[in-house]
Amino acid sequence: MESCLPCGHIYGFSCINKWLKRSPNSRKCPQCKKLCKLKDVRVLYAARLCVADEELQKRVITLEAECAYLKQSHKSVYERVLEEMRNEMDEKSMELKGKFRKICEEMDARHKLNEARCEALEKMFPEMPNMRGN
Ligand SMILES: [Zn+2]
Repeated sequence: MESCLPCGHIYGFSCINKWLKRSPNSRKCPQCKKLCKLKDVRVLYAARLCVADEELQKRVITLEAECAYLKQSHKSVYERVLEEMRNEMDEKSMELKGKFRKICEEMDARHKLNEARCEALEKMFPEMPNMRGN
């Protein structure tokens, strides 16, 4: 609970109370040294005390701006990395598709070659059983 001395300086009530009881002969405000009596102490019932400090306010604004900037740059770095990964995956995918097509073509060519060899063998040895299973 914040409390106000008659001079206007503010302290916690429990501190003022202890301080007045401990040294009853030197009841002076620690800041301005004006005399003070317990009955003159006013408890402040404000929900929340806010010290108006322009420097602090400026600092808060600067920090908020820095924070917003960092969030933004963090986001753009994240997006750039994501884009790079996407491109890399697309490239790999194209590469794999190309390899797969080549393998298919190669298998097809080998199959045709085998067919041709079988046909040639069948012509050479007509009495042999059908090697292609048809
Ligand atoms: Zn004072």
